[in-house]
Amino acid sequence: MNTRQALRYGMIILMTLLIIIVTYPIYSFSPYCEWKVVNMLESASAKIYNIVMNKLDIKDVTHALLLTDLKYSEVDGYDLYPLSYYFTSHGFVVPYNAVPVHAPVYSIPWIFVYYNDTRMSIYIEFSRECLKNVIDSLCSGKITISEASSMIVRKCISKMNILSFNINSIVEKGLKEPSKMWNYLTEKLNKYAAFSIVTITAVWSHDAPALLLLASELHNHICPGLLSGFLMYKYLMMNKLITSRDKVYIIASPVYCKDDVYVQLFDASPGKRRIIVKLLPWSEQDEISKILGGNVAGIVIAYDPETDTGRAYILAFNWTKVHIYLKKYHTSFHGPSWWVSRVIADLYMLKYVNQPDYFVKVLKTIDFRGHVWRYPSLFYELGRAGVDPYVALGVIHGNRTSRSSISAPASASARSTYSPSIVYAELGVIIILIIIIIIMAMMYRKRKH
Ligand SMILES: [Zn+2]
Repeated sequence: MNTRQALRYGMIILMTLLIIIVTYPIYSFSPYCEWKVVNMLESASAKIYNIVMNKLDIKDVTHALLLTDLKYSEVDGYDLYPLSYYFTSHGFVVPYNAVPVHAPVYSIPWIFVYYNDTRMSIYIEFSRECLKNVIDSLCSGKITISEASSMIVRKCISKMNILSFNINSIVEKGLKEPSKMWNYLTEKLNKYAAFSIVTITAVWSHDAPALLLLASELHNHICPGLLSGFLMYKYLMMNKLITSRDKVYIIASPVYCKDDVYVQLFDASPGKRRIIVKLLPWSEQDEISKILGGNVAGIVIAYDPETDTGRAYILAFNWTKVHIYLKKYHTSFHGPSWWVSRVIADLYMLKYVNQPDYFVKVLKTIDFRGHVWRYPSLFYELGRAGVDPYVALGVIHGNRTSRSSISAPASASARSTYSPSIVYAELGVIIILIIIIIIMAMMYRKRKH
């Protein structure tokens, strides 16, 4: 082999190496088994649907409610939603009689179905470990889709309980022996999902509006705080304080469960900078409530981009009425009856979804004009860091911005398997290879001449 041939082969090898390095991130991250897993989970879903229908003897699916966290649960990067797909394609309609319950992706996967005609329910839980093994075996070609879906039903159901779910008797027993009843529920269901299941089922079986169920998807339960947010939403819409021309911006201060209603129903999410969350100390909350004459519940801003004008409403929610109602049952939000008092308050507040002014009122209205960059001017003014919105609006006085004694947490360590350092290393290798190729090409040309 002469020098020219050696140089030519050298360049071919280097070019091949270059192509492998450059395309590595693309082929190493492509999903390879996704649709196989989807088809397998759908097939298992049909089998689980039949088990549920038979065990609960469901004659009319519109009288049944499905709750599940499968939409949000994942195993090994595979979303488990298709495991509930047969339900949502056979009579369970989101949000009318099916609520996907928000949960961290690493949660225990579960399905709960309640049948209103018999007041019976079924709770089914799946083992994450078992699901992972079945998916691994399927993707490595050791078993077929049909074998894998049968294995899920035979081996991966780690808990299956059929239980009577009469809300009235749950409340009755819960008032008498709150801890005992709660222990029973968390044992039959699971301790993370029990509050979601009890509250959503209670409210659904008392004719909850579909939009309240929709709001409960994100919040993952229905508590008096969420219901207060729904009543404020209803108040704003029924009194035409918000129209379809408006964009809604929220100053969530005080912040509590109500604010998830705005995120879900007004698309006022923090990422879109449509909601600013500011903790309000109890002392300040009391002071503002006293000055304005109502339990202050945050600020809702309706902004019309066409006219570049807007209105801010400081809202109040009458919690005194809720506390007085709970006293009739000799219970409160605190102590061992915390859960049952929330169910009782939910059912009480639910009666007023079409009369929200029984609880809600506007304490103060502020008109404004103009915008700053993409924000309505008042939202920008009240939302900026270090600004106390109630001081800025002149409701209370004084310098409220105090320096926090808590230091900022250290920056999170990079855990990604495809970290920037790998990118830099790869870029370095590519640059070196390019330089070698150029030098070799120059040597090759020199020899030719
Ligand atoms: Zn809540």
